[in-house]
Amino acid sequence: ATAPYDDENIFAKILRGEIHCDKVYEDEHALAFRDIAPQADTHVLVIPKGRYVSWDDFSLNAEDAEIAAFVRAVGNVARQLGLVEPGYRLLANIGQHGGQEVPHLHVHLFGGEPLGPMIA
Ligand code: 5GP
Repeated sequence: ATAPYDDENIFAKILRGEIHCDKVYEDEHALAFRDIAPQADTHVLVIPKGRYVSWDDFSLNAEDAEIAAFVRAVGNVARQLGLVEPGYRLLANIGQHGGQEVPHLHVHLFGGEPLGPMIA
């Protein structure tokens, strides 16, 4: 079972405006901002505004419309940043073995340079 959502996680605080972020995109359902420790020339995190711990929680419990809106938002962010033609990479870490550190679903978007082969 998925752990209960922790309203004190850092991305919850960002969503409430309690912690600053370098916002690159926002719509009704999603927020995107630059990662504080970028691992590529462009490194953005895209998060749903709903309270979901992980991809597992989201895919199981979110309404279809919310899932669709989030997938659309991730694409919107990449297009807005001009990453579609050069290309980019999406990544989601889930849980302990996935190395997930922040317990609010986020998709990493990497780009702005050739990324090389996928690494573990
Ligand atoms: P995870 O390992 O959970 O998939 O990734 C969490 C990401 O959040 C890391 O890449 C980390 O650099 C980023 N991060 C952690 N705290 C903050 C913060 O306060 N602001 C921003 N913009 N990114 C953060």
